[in-house]
Amino acid sequence: MLILNNVYKGTDVMKNFLSFIIFVGGIGTVVAMNKEKLSLQEELLAGAFKGNVEQVRLCIVRGVDVNAHCETNKELKGARALFVACNQGHADVVRCLLAHGADMDIKIERGCTALMFACTNGHLEVVKVVLEHSVKLETTNDEGLTALMCACQYGHVDIIKVLLEHGADHTTRLESGGEPLHIACFCEHPEAVDYLLSFGVDINAQTKDGTTVLTIACNKGLVEVVKVLLKYNSGLSAMENTELTELLLGCKKNNAQMVKCLLAAGANPNDAFKDGLSALMFVCGEGYLKIAELLLKEGADINQAGPGGCTPLIFALIKGNIRFVKLLLGKGADADVHGSLDCTPLMLASNNGNENIVRALLKHGVIMDAQNKSRETALLIAQRGRNKKIISSLLEAEKEMCNVCHKSNVRVCQRCRQKFYCSRDCQIEDWPEHKKSCKKEKR
Ligand SMILES: [Zn+2]
Ligand SMILES: [Zn+2]
Repeated sequence: MLILNNVYKGTDVMKNFLSFIIFVGGIGTVVAMNKEKLSLQEELLAGAFKGNVEQVRLCIVRGVDVNAHCETNKELKGARALFVACNQGHADVVRCLLAHGADMDIKIERGCTALMFACTNGHLEVVKVVLEHSVKLETTNDEGLTALMCACQYGHVDIIKVLLEHGADHTTRLESGGEPLHIACFCEHPEAVDYLLSFGVDINAQTKDGTTVLTIACNKGLVEVVKVLLKYNSGLSAMENTELTELLLGCKKNNAQMVKCLLAAGANPNDAFKDGLSALMFVCGEGYLKIAELLLKEGADINQAGPGGCTPLIFALIKGNIRFVKLLLGKGADADVHGSLDCTPLMLASNNGNENIVRALLKHGVIMDAQNKSRETALLIAQRGRNKKIISSLLEAEKEMCNVCHKSNVRVCQRCRQKFYCSRDCQIEDWPEHKKSCKKEKR
C-alpha cells in the first residue's frame, strides 16, 4: 500500500514550526507592553517587529549587535531582529539589518533560517532583498526542509519562482525522498505544482517507496493538481507495476471528479483490483452512483464476471442497492446471469428479501423458473424465506410469463388475449403451435 506519511510528515512538523512563528510574531507585542524602559536589544526587536527602519537604524548607531539574540527578557529569549523582520515582511528593515552585518545563515529554533520564515509567510519583497546578499539556499532545518520547500509548502508561487531563478535546487530531498514538487502537491497547491513543472522539475520523481506526485494527488483526491499533472503528460500507472491504479484509487475515494479526470486522460475503465474485482463492481458494491455512470459511459464491461463469477449487477444485489440495480438493468446488464454463484439475480434478491429489487427485476424481465443446482427456483427460495410480498409478486408474475422462455414482463397476444410473450421473437417461435388455439379463441 501507499504510505503517504513517508512522503512528507508535514502536519506535525509545521504545527511546531508555526507555533514558533506565532511566538516570534508576538515579540513586538511583548516588547511594547512589558516594559517602560527597553534595553537596546529589545528596542531593536520592537523596531524590527513594527517595521520602523529609523528605530532600527538608531539602535545600530548606538552600537547594538544586530546578530545578538535577546537574553534580558525571558519571553524573548533567542529572538533575533532579522528573524522578526523576515517573519513580519518588513523588507526595508531586512535590507538595513543585512547592510549592517546581519547573518542570514544563522539558524534558530528547529534549525530554521530567517529566509525560511519569509518563504513560509509569503513575503516576496523580503525574499528578494535576502537574495541580493549571498545566502545559502540549500540550508535545511531540522525537518530537512529548504527555503524552497517552505515556499512550496504554502504555495507561494512568486517566491518559488524567485528562488529557482536564483539557483535554488529543486532536487533536494527529504529523508523520505520527497522533493519540493511532492511537497507542493501534498500541500494542495496546483499553481505551485504547475510552476515547478513548467520550470522543468521531473514529474516522475519518486520518493523512496516509489510514490509519484500523481499517486499523491490521486490518493488525496486533488482534482486540480491531477489536472495540472495530466497537462504535463504524467503517465498513468500500469497495473503490473502497482498495487492500485490511479483510477482505482479515485474509485476507492469515491471521487467522481477525479475518476472523470483520469478517464478523460485515458485511464482504463476496466481496471481491476488484484482479486479480479473491477472498478465497476467495486463502485456498485459501495454504492458510488456517479462513478458507476462515468465508468459505464467510458465503456466499462457491465457483464464482466469477477470474483466468484459475480457481475456488477450481482454486487449491487448483494448490497441491496435498488438504484444501482435499475441503472445496470437500464444499461444492458444480464438480468439472468447464472455464474459460479449458482443463483440468478432474481434468486438472490428473493433470498435476501429485497422486495423492491424483486419487483424491479420482474418489471425488467427475467426468467421466472431458472433453477440452481439444488433445483430451486426463485419462488421456492422466497417461500423458504417467507417474505409474503415477494412470494405474491412472484406468483403474480408467474401467471403472465412468456409462453416460450418463461420470462416476466410480457405482452399478451393481441388476437386471443390468452398467451403472453416477452418479445416478438418468442411470439414468432411459438406461432406454429399457438396459431391453432389462437384462431379457435378468436372465433
Ligand atoms: Zn420469451
Ligand atoms: Zn394468441
